[in-house]
Amino acid sequence: MSINNRREFELLKKIGFIRTSGSDEELKAANILLEEISSIGCEGYIEDFKVPTSKIKKASLKVVEPYEKEYEITPYNCSISTPEGGITTDFVYIEDGLDANLVDLKGKFVLINMSPNPKLYKKLIEAGIAGYITMCGTAKDEENKTDITVARMREKNTQYGKVPALNMRMKDCFHMVQNKTSKVEVELITEDIELTSHNVVVTLEGSKYPDEIISFGAHYDSVPFSTGVYDNGAGSVIIMELLRHFKENPPIRTVKFVWYGSEEVGLLGSKAYLKAHEEELKKHLLMINVDVAGSILGKEMALVTAEQSMVDYIDHVAKIRGLPLKVEQSIYSSDSTAFADAGIPSVTFCRFAPNGGAFIHTRNDVMDYLSAEALEKTAVITRDFSESIINSVVFPIERKIPENMQKELDKYFGKESKKEDSGENKK
Ligand SMILES: [Zn+2]
Repeated sequence: MSINNRREFELLKKIGFIRTSGSDEELKAANILLEEISSIGCEGYIEDFKVPTSKIKKASLKVVEPYEKEYEITPYNCSISTPEGGITTDFVYIEDGLDANLVDLKGKFVLINMSPNPKLYKKLIEAGIAGYITMCGTAKDEENKTDITVARMREKNTQYGKVPALNMRMKDCFHMVQNKTSKVEVELITEDIELTSHNVVVTLEGSKYPDEIISFGAHYDSVPFSTGVYDNGAGSVIIMELLRHFKENPPIRTVKFVWYGSEEVGLLGSKAYLKAHEEELKKHLLMINVDVAGSILGKEMALVTAEQSMVDYIDHVAKIRGLPLKVEQSIYSSDSTAFADAGIPSVTFCRFAPNGGAFIHTRNDVMDYLSAEALEKTAVITRDFSESIINSVVFPIERKIPENMQKELDKYFGKESKKEDSGENKK
């Protein structure tokens, strides 16, 4: 069956509204996917899981020395509060947080160029900072055309302790540093709450090897302010089209389709799935993820978290069919990475726009930059590869994560610094 790119594009428009982790709109999108699934003649169902987040009661940042000015901020979800009434403390710009930037920070509020990885986060906690600020956007953004990203503190960091954390426009951070800010007053009052998020699941049982499972994944949630069509309504409609394909062409191995919620806040949907299906996972041979697609300008890529032989295999399939595809052995910040960390070889197919050609994680992730024809490109590549592998006579991929990839995964999930602590990494 050929891919119907018009049908894909129409479904993408239907789910092209803001659908953040655990919101009513996320559930609404899950139900639209379920309806589409039943229109194909399949039975889908929803699995719930809890997502810890925050209710923000007060949030303010004021520079008090050497000038006075209040700036707009957005606290991190799952951060902690300052004392009621806030704190007034020294402010230090620590750039990338190199060791020489981390001297004498006790009790100070710091500004960092990027969100700290677990290794740096641990050092910041050990240095005794009072809290930290990260920046988003660019130094020349216009306030009325941009939003401050809502970030969330990740478990891989908070295992080392929590401090108040907030995000600001880079433009304002620039202003603060340029004007030699030395003292700030920060008040952050938040309450820990829990929301419910959802994964949508469909299974097509294999005709010959029902106990061997290949699963497709795509996250369907978006970040705040973003209709998330490029990231990742597009992947969601692509795997829907593949469900149609495999419904019409029954596979010899079992194929699962999972639309994950809450990917944008730390892969929580795939992590919940992995936790709830421990027994089933032993049968998973491969996870095929689609995340980011449909941009009119772009290039096709496959990021493979498995053995080099799978990289070569996908590269060969693409070349044999004349499909331009760049294949790399790598991890990718998406649900495929959670599966790889559970020992299941995984691959993400995506279409990356050149810088400025399409936009993720902002209000500019809209349909204007996407087309049905571009969506079809990723759909065809993913279908051709998956068809060949799902119906292979002998499954050619070893169920194993090579050492170099496991190292990357450990770094990504912050296990590297844990291992150093316990001496596991010492020779
Ligand atoms: Zn994404």
